[in-house]
Amino acid sequence: MKGKLIVFEGTDGSGKATQTKLLVEALEQRGRAVRKLTFPRYDQDSSMLVRMYLNGAFGTDPNDVNPYAASTFYAVDRYASYKQDWGNWYETGGLVVTDRYTTSNAVHQAGKLPDGACQDYLQWLFHFEYDLMGLPRPDLVIYLDLPAELSAALRRQREESTGQHADIHEADAAYLRRCRENALRVVAFDGWRRIDCSRDGAIRTPEEIHREVWSLVAPLLERE
Ligand code: ADP
Repeated sequence: MKGKLIVFEGTDGSGKATQTKLLVEALEQRGRAVRKLTFPRYDQDSSMLVRMYLNGAFGTDPNDVNPYAASTFYAVDRYASYKQDWGNWYETGGLVVTDRYTTSNAVHQAGKLPDGACQDYLQWLFHFEYDLMGLPRPDLVIYLDLPAELSAALRRQREESTGQHADIHEADAAYLRRCRENALRVVAFDGWRRIDCSRDGAIRTPEEIHREVWSLVAPLLERE
């Protein structure tokens, strides 16, 4: 009896961590047992190649690493997490909410390819992680859509408050703009649900976005 997997997706600074937390809290308040995950797991050995890549060990331009190679770095970390952490929970019917998943490769890597090659890459990616590696397919992917200028402003705010430095993805504005354009195509290709997180050029409040998230999640839970 497999469980349920809900994924938050979006470019950096689109509010994924914030909405993951709000959804998990809302589920817990309603008495639902839920596991909360975040990828990549920067504090684990299994993310070593991800950290090398994001710190520029293979080149400081994200395009220095081809999307197939980069995708395997992230996939390995997810596999380790599934085997060591949440696989049993999910396989015995548990509910999982995650900030990023296989879908992040679709957002951050597919845009490196010319238009004609994107579809082949996406088919490869989902087949590789879900069919060959055996990771579960999400039941719901919520794409938090924010124009690049607004997500850049939120990232700057976060960097100032946490003292964190931008990695090679975050430091490249043109790359992040391409990621968003590409993500909007993937939303349609893979059946994701998009939430428009801005209105009249400003970000909506976390609570307002959360209400929309809940309207997508509630029907999924009612179907159990
Ligand atoms: P992500 O996980 O997608 O990178 P975060 O949830 O960490 O994004 O949000 C980035 C920054 O923006 C954080 O400092 C967070 O507190 C803030 N933030 C998130 N959602 C909103 C919102 N709706 N309105 C204003 N600030 C927000």
